[in-house]
Amino acid sequence: MNKTALNKAVLSLRKSIGRDKVITDPYMLDQFSRDETSDISEFPAIVVRATSVTDVSKTLAICSKYNIPAIPRGAGTGVTGGAIPVKHGLVLSVEQMNNIIEIDKENMFAVVEPGVITKTLQDAALEHGLMYPPDPASLDSCSIGGNLAEGAGGPRAVKYGTTKDYVTGLEFVLPNGAVINTGGKIVKNATGYNFIGILVGSEGTLAVITKIYLKLIPAPPAVIDLLIPFDSIDKALNIVPLLLQNRIIPSTIEFMEEDAIKLVKEFLKEEIPFGNAGAHLLIQIDGDSEDDLMKDLDRLNNLINTKYEIIAANTKIQKERLWKTRRSIRESIKNASSIFFGEDTVVPRSKVPVFIKDIKTYLNTESLRSIIYGHAGDGNVHINILKGDMNIEKWNKLVPKIKKYIFKKAIFYGGTLTGEHGIGLTKKNYLNLAVSKEGIELSKRIKAAFDPNSILNPGKIF
Ligand SMILES: Cc1cc2nc3c(=O)[nH]c(=O)nc-3n(C[C@H](O)[C@H](O)[C@H](O)COP(=O)(O)OP(=O)(O)OC[C@H]3O[C@@H](n4cnc5c(N)ncnc54)[C@H](O)[C@@H]3O)c2cc1C
Repeated sequence: MNKTALNKAVLSLRKSIGRDKVITDPYMLDQFSRDETSDISEFPAIVVRATSVTDVSKTLAICSKYNIPAIPRGAGTGVTGGAIPVKHGLVLSVEQMNNIIEIDKENMFAVVEPGVITKTLQDAALEHGLMYPPDPASLDSCSIGGNLAEGAGGPRAVKYGTTKDYVTGLEFVLPNGAVINTGGKIVKNATGYNFIGILVGSEGTLAVITKIYLKLIPAPPAVIDLLIPFDSIDKALNIVPLLLQNRIIPSTIEFMEEDAIKLVKEFLKEEIPFGNAGAHLLIQIDGDSEDDLMKDLDRLNNLINTKYEIIAANTKIQKERLWKTRRSIRESIKNASSIFFGEDTVVPRSKVPVFIKDIKTYLNTESLRSIIYGHAGDGNVHINILKGDMNIEKWNKLVPKIKKYIFKKAIFYGGTLTGEHGIGLTKKNYLNLAVSKEGIELSKRIKAAFDPNSILNPGKIF
């Protein structure tokens, strides 16, 4: 990057959006050099903390003028390196654009700025008796803008879908600074190309999202959470298609293998109910009334064959206790091995057991420790491989080989590379396993139409 251009850009930014929003102090820059991806970081040259769409527009126009890479950033919880400034340049943080502009109870919509934390929106909607269903496990810390950019999902996707199913309107800024609006508080829209469809999952490579219209739904009055232990992962996973075929549609069906449960137990230093079972399913059922739930529970009991007791949670404290194990898995992995990688491959639901069996058999031949858990209801399997005390040279050689094996297996079973975490940096070398040459060419032409000088989040996806 040209140093003179960089200095001129800093002066220009300070003049047009204000000194306090432009950061060049190395100590401060450090916080923006990484996200939640294990073992990758790179320093930006500048950070801008935007507080309005005008700040975003002016910043991008200046980046375009001086040919400086601009990397959009929400809360920095991404796990595929999407917000890491690999080509240095300017990190454009929208963290402070965190206003809930409106909760429209009558039309059941929320209008928000991109920096709003997902849980904050959920709580605000709930105060009006409404629900924003997408619930990434990181919901306490990730932002809605980041959720859109990654196409985030969560446990409730099995019944309610993912982020893409709730976006009805956007304001976004092109790399040249132009501001575009599309859609709004409307449930249908067939007006021209679907910009929302292109931008959700675009990982900050096409435009910066500055305002979002989201559909809300009435919050279900009755909700129950169940922890169901099984002897083996196969027994747990084979239940999933059976439930759905029998018209029991839980809002979540999460699974955790035995090693995941044991790791969390060690990390939290707490007893976990049936901590020695072969696998757990964490199922949430919601409905209009307690009676509805009881009917579903009876039918579920008849379908499920386990020697263990089913633990039900009705109160907030009981529910939090059940979900604590699931939400602590990633931290437990980090604690056990600071270097690891995690993939969120997706396969058809019925293929999850055989897919996991293949992966485990392969990893055993390489003497690697893995922790597998995820969204059983969506076939979205989180496979984490821990470096542990393996020699780093050996690890670095093995990682590409293992990733390739996992992705090829997922594709073999009719699946794909990622269900919700995106491609970012960590999967870009494998994109061609899932997307044809022509598909990649078309994607590059879409990128060029939005960003002809390739300044927005360069080095990601392709
Ligand atoms: C413990 C843990 C659990 C997780 N669980 C889940 C889960 O269940 N489901 C799931 O889907 N993910 C999960 N994630 C991953 C992560 O939280 C999501 O990808 C989340 O959507 C990222 O949001 P963020 O605000 O942190 O984005 P960031 O990390 O800041 O950015 C992610 C990407 O979005 C782009 N971006 C951010 N804001 C904008 C914007 N306004 N305009 C354009 N581009 C933008 C960035 O350039 C980057 O490419 C988890 C992560 C952790 C650490």
